[in-house]
Amino acid sequence: MRYLIFLNILFFFEIVKSKVFPDISGCFCEGGIITGKISTDDSLKIDDKKVKIFEDGRFIFAFGRKFKKNVDIVFNGLSREFNILDKEYRIERIKGLPRNKVEPSKEELDKIFSDQKKIKESKKVGSKKKLFSEKFILPAKGRLSGVYGSQRILNAKPRRPHNGIDIAAKEGTKIIAPSTGRVKLVAKNMFFTGNTIIIDHGLGLLSIFAHLKDIYVNEKDLVSQGDKIGTIGMTGRATGPHLHWGVYLENTSVDPEVLLNFKLF
Ligand SMILES: [Zn+2]
Repeated sequence: MRYLIFLNILFFFEIVKSKVFPDISGCFCEGGIITGKISTDDSLKIDDKKVKIFEDGRFIFAFGRKFKKNVDIVFNGLSREFNILDKEYRIERIKGLPRNKVEPSKEELDKIFSDQKKIKESKKVGSKKKLFSEKFILPAKGRLSGVYGSQRILNAKPRRPHNGIDIAAKEGTKIIAPSTGRVKLVAKNMFFTGNTIIIDHGLGLLSIFAHLKDIYVNEKDLVSQGDKIGTIGMTGRATGPHLHWGVYLENTSVDPEVLLNFKLF
């Protein structure tokens, strides 16, 4: 009997839940990000993973650098398949880096490990509210010297793919916040990323800025889109002055260029 009541309750909730597939916007592509608004009682699974629904019903999902050709999205039991556009990634060969920046020593590995721990900690969901602007803007003026996803061969050694874009410009060129957010990390002299800033844009979305010369913000500062946050430098692993801008949804990398071309919400 109890079991029957339980089933009835389940049935009732199934009726209340929307059976209309929600609008999902963004880029169904590698490095892409999609968003939408549903209700907090709805259930949503993307690629067989339960997706977090924030308090205002917003959800956000990133595909990462390598993804299958299709993705299944299941909304309140309704399933749909979407195609994911795959990208061809360039092979980028960079020579002339100091040897230790490609093959670090034991002590340097300890430093790298502690840097990475700090960065990983900062990637955990911060603000559960949306802070980001509808559309991202470029954080600096300059030449696009590196694109998202490239395979990297540094001093002839294969290394991790490039999880961001590089903007090359004169040392001291100003860097602005590409979107509103809260400063989550300010770190000087990291082994690879040099002087580094991480901004939390809310709902798990964040930006990392690397190789800076000056930093003009402090941890916990709220910065608006367009606010000056620092200047371009060549600290950390860099062969010339440039800004490395990476975007992550927690630990999944996002192509920053996708955010420059799509309106979020
Ligand atoms: Zn870079």
